Amino acid sequence: MNLKNSLHKKNKTLVVIGGGAAGFFCAVNAARMSPHLQVILLERSTKLLSKVKVSGGGRCNVTHALFDITEMSKRYPRGDKFVKKSLHHFFTTDTIEWFEQRGVKLKTEKDGRMFPVSDSSQSVIDCLMNEANLYGVEIKMNSEVRSMRYENSEVISMRYGNSEERSMKYEKSEVRSMRYEDGKFLINLSNNIILNSDYVCIASGGAPKTSMFQWLVDLGHTISEPVPSLFTFNLHSAKPGSAKHPITELMGVSVEKARVKIEGTKLAEEGPVLITHWGLSGPAVLKLSAWGARELAAVDYLFKVHVNWLPEENANSLKEKFRNFRFSESNKKILNHNFGKLPNRLWQFLLEQSDIHADMRFADLPAKKENILINNLVDYTAEVKGKTTFKEEFVTAGGINLSEVDVNTMMSRKIKNLFFAGEVLDVDGITGGFNFQHAWTSGWIAAKTISFLSPDNESICDVE
Ligand SMILES: Cc1cc2nc3c(=O)[nH]c(=O)nc-3n(C[C@H](O)[C@H](O)[C@H](O)COP(=O)(O)OP(=O)(O)OC[C@H]3O[C@@H](n4cnc5c(N)ncnc54)[C@H](O)[C@@H]3O)c2cc1C
Repeated sequence: MNLKNSLHKKNKTLVVIGGGAAGFFCAVNAARMSPHLQVILLERSTKLLSKVKVSGGGRCNVTHALFDITEMSKRYPRGDKFVKKSLHHFFTTDTIEWFEQRGVKLKTEKDGRMFPVSDSSQSVIDCLMNEANLYGVEIKMNSEVRSMRYENSEVISMRYGNSEERSMKYEKSEVRSMRYEDGKFLINLSNNIILNSDYVCIASGGAPKTSMFQWLVDLGHTISEPVPSLFTFNLHSAKPGSAKHPITELMGVSVEKARVKIEGTKLAEEGPVLITHWGLSGPAVLKLSAWGARELAAVDYLFKVHVNWLPEENANSLKEKFRNFRFSESNKKILNHNFGKLPNRLWQFLLEQSDIHADMRFADLPAKKENILINNLVDYTAEVKGKTTFKEEFVTAGGINLSEVDVNTMMSRKIKNLFFAGEVLDVDGITGGFNFQHAWTSGWIAAKTISFLSPDNESICDVE
């Protein structure tokens, strides 16, 4: 049953632009909180919630099991201070409760990511669609917003001494009170339809090019230049004529914990590293790509990476170990003594790269080769040339400048009754559910503010 349409006459209209996580969360919450508000959701494509559908390998990584706001905010390379404030309004605990109250129970994986117990993103989609139906959100697909403008507020009528309400165009008399009408948004759609609305929430997501934000710039907002975040590193072969870096032969090999650093920067991360067809991936690399999104774009993705495959060790500690092995394991083949518990293929590769043949024993290891091996173990260096999108999972760093949005309301500081939510803002998180949490939080705050601003009756302002 459509509760809202059946029971309430609508006074004001909210248009939400974008049928993703943030747009839906704003629309369904605003419609529920404000029964008299007409809520229209515009989506340019033929698909709703398409990223929710594919995220987390089709399971939807709804949020992250972190319950400390300061800690949580540290997972956002851009917008951490903004998020630290917004999370006070709607936190991970609220997300968990919101979905659970609507029949979508979440579970936590070992690494903290939270998924629906059904292991299917469809549960999240069904939940949001049910809410939209229940509270009468009108969804319009194939409706791309091309431009928008705001018509300023004006006095539309006055109350005269004889209490009779008349248009201002008519006779003048003593004015006792005035009825204001806030401005209206005129929204131009690609199909030439023009909508007007009292409130607008822009939840149109990220975009790879600045030009795609032009319609928001035309509104008077400024954009922090978009650059990709969350990508893997393509390694470049130093050998002339060889396109592929030799380590890519180990494609599929992963190391549980390695430390990856980017030369000439402070960027360093520790965690699982995966060797791929093109180079390096895995959580440590993806986190680096997020933290370094701007720096790495500035050098056109040409930089050197240093990997410590044994992050608990350094050159000195390994030297000590090798010295001991020369006595205790002198007759053992180095190849069979993978003391660092590295994957065997990687150990073998690092020996080959250090020119240590398969039969060499610890007793026969020349000091020079030992040094090279130690270097390859704790400071393996490779050149990165380019990037690859991680499983089509990308996030845009950049978007609406945060100084132009009030974090406690999500309202534009430039245009009254205009709101923003989700990835369109200059906020992005590392992988693990942080981007969705920002979408839920900002969508909810915008909904709450709009519901507060749209009382059931239009306001009558007394003239002083
Ligand atoms: C493959 C993939 C996997 C991901 N996995 C995860 C994950 O596991 N965990 C996590 O936290 N994050 C993940 N992310 C990131 C996360 O999906 C996004 O940060 C989040 O979906 C952003 O939500 P949004 O509503 O702001 O934007 P979007 O989901 O991008 O939605 C914006 C919508 O607006 C529409 N739109 C744009 N412009 C207009 C216009 N002018 N008029 C009308 N409609 C318009 C778009 O078509 C789109 O449907 C993933 C991203 C991808 C691509």
